[in-house]
Amino acid sequence: MGSPALLMRVVASAYSVAEKAATIVRNVMAAGDLGIVEKTGANDLQTKADRLVQMSICASLARKFPKVTIIGEELVIWVDPLDGTKEYTEGLLDHVTVLIGIAYGGKAIAGVINQPYYNYEAGADAVLGRTIWGVLGIGAFGFQLTEAPAGKRIIITTRSHSSTLVNDCISALNPDSVIRVGGAGNKIIQLTEGKASAYVFASPGCKKWDTCAPEAILHAVGGKITDIHGNSFQYNKEVKHMNSAGVLATLRNYEYYASRIPNTVKQSLVP
Ligand code: AMP
Ligand code: MG
Ligand code: MG
Repeated sequence: MGSPALLMRVVASAYSVAEKAATIVRNVMAAGDLGIVEKTGANDLQTKADRLVQMSICASLARKFPKVTIIGEELVIWVDPLDGTKEYTEGLLDHVTVLIGIAYGGKAIAGVINQPYYNYEAGADAVLGRTIWGVLGIGAFGFQLTEAPAGKRIIITTRSHSSTLVNDCISALNPDSVIRVGGAGNKIIQLTEGKASAYVFASPGCKKWDTCAPEAILHAVGGKITDIHGNSFQYNKEVKHMNSAGVLATLRNYEYYASRIPNTVKQSLVP
């Protein structure tokens, strides 16, 4: 890369842009008109917050850095203006995040996750929201890294995009408990804060903008995320957006879960 200083300028900008985005997310909800539209079919929603945040992030980054999302041909920024839109429309506000991921040479190297409603149950005086960020080789900040309970298999997965395959795969892992929540960003946060031991999603549906920022942060603290076959994700600008072969992520003990994904599940998910 041209210079590490450029990367750090992008991360710093993404941090402040994500905080501005979080204000928009809260303001749209407070105003009460979500302007929901269906994108591709059932369960793929877009709200006014998705649209306004997308514009805000892209305009800010375009102003600060030439060429909008692609800098020097090799630095690619993957933006999910609102991750967990389904849950946002249903008032499950703490599931929602804003994701800005930075990839270099096809690899996720830095990420910013803003959680606009972090602390929302703490009462009227509580300060809402937090920004988590991380850079590969440097670390991740804005949260307390916590291990999941030892010896327990706590699986975290989709709340609103389940299927027989998704559930069969989880059953095969013989979980002690299953947590169903919205958002890829939210689920990775739960892994890094010790609430769950593995994020398992044996289905297409999740996109590169869902995984780029979470991947950089998880990898920065020693975790691992791949598709259900164990293939790492690529984030170059030509790559297919869909993570067709699902998601498997852990903070620790990745091999344990990877080795127990049934072959029948793998055969159903083509990368
Ligand atoms: P979930 O765990 O269901 O919140 O999904 C994580 C991310 O992947 C969200 O941005 C979802 O919108 C997206 N996603 C997962 N499955 C689907 C699907 N079947 N259709 C559309 N988007 C999906
Ligand atoms: Mg998303
Ligand atoms: Mg989204």
